[in-house]
Amino acid sequence: MLELSYNNGSTFRSCQKKFYWRYVEHLEPVIKLPSLTLGAVLHDGFDQFYKGMADTDVYHFIGQKFNEEISKQEVSDQEDLLVAKYIALGMWLNYPYKKLKEYDSIESEERFEVPLCEGVKLVGKVDGRIAQYGNWWVRELKTSGLSQRQFEGRCQTSAQGTGYVYGLTKMGYDIKGIMYEYIKKPILRKGVNETADEFGRRIMHDYKTRPKLYYNRYLSYRTPTDLSNFEEDTIRLAEDIIIKLANGKFYRNLDACWTFGAVCPYEKICFTDKPDTLTVQLYFNKKEVRNGGHTITGAGEGTDGRVGSVEGVDEGSNGIS
Ligand code: SF4
Repeated sequence: MLELSYNNGSTFRSCQKKFYWRYVEHLEPVIKLPSLTLGAVLHDGFDQFYKGMADTDVYHFIGQKFNEEISKQEVSDQEDLLVAKYIALGMWLNYPYKKLKEYDSIESEERFEVPLCEGVKLVGKVDGRIAQYGNWWVRELKTSGLSQRQFEGRCQTSAQGTGYVYGLTKMGYDIKGIMYEYIKKPILRKGVNETADEFGRRIMHDYKTRPKLYYNRYLSYRTPTDLSNFEEDTIRLAEDIIIKLANGKFYRNLDACWTFGAVCPYEKICFTDKPDTLTVQLYFNKKEVRNGGHTITGAGEGTDGRVGSVEGVDEGSNGIS
């Protein structure tokens, strides 16, 4: 059974070889980017909040999670994580949509697993399913470096968002679309003589003083035609993946080696005839798979179809940094 998620499908579309390293060889990069840590911790914090944790406890939860991550890193990598910690704290502390009374109902972090076609199921996990004024929405939290106009334009065509509406609709919910709550990444630059700590505190203060610049909410509707087109596209994608899994001919896309200003973690093993065993052991964890065979959801994403990302609308697929 092929478990197709947003993330493994997106990886396949971006670079088949990357898909191979991650979902066939099950190699998970050891070093996490600060942006991924920020996304993962922020999502966990919001999940805790919607499950009943007090506002101030969430704040301490986020700080503690980052402290744990920072303690695991080399000193040279700790500064970026420290700044990411202040960004996450600033984002949470000043987040304007914490009034739970404005919703009729909130279900946090909801999984779906629905049949797509023979031998394939679509899996995923939405940030939330919420009801407001009698309508149900997928709730998605995003961070983005894009302007409001750019971000909202991408929301309309987001395959990830459409897939989430498709998944929950197939589970029987009447979903209108996606309620995006998005937070703009800091627009400040680090001063020449500024320490990481000073810079981080300045970012936190900026979230407090300019909330209208940093926070927004956007409703993005999906029609039955959007969902049937998504289904058609996704079945074709699944067919392509199944063919490659059978013949093992995954090819590289060198245009995908750099995203968000960072090189692909598999670059260390992708440009040699045979990956060096020591390099593999040093830079990657070999992820255990549950069922083996073609159950490819794994390597860091469980069945949630995401790798802790709140980057942009569709991570890595449309040039959002
Ligand atoms: S290094 Fe480039 S070609 Fe290799 S897996 Fe990554 S994106 Fe693909």
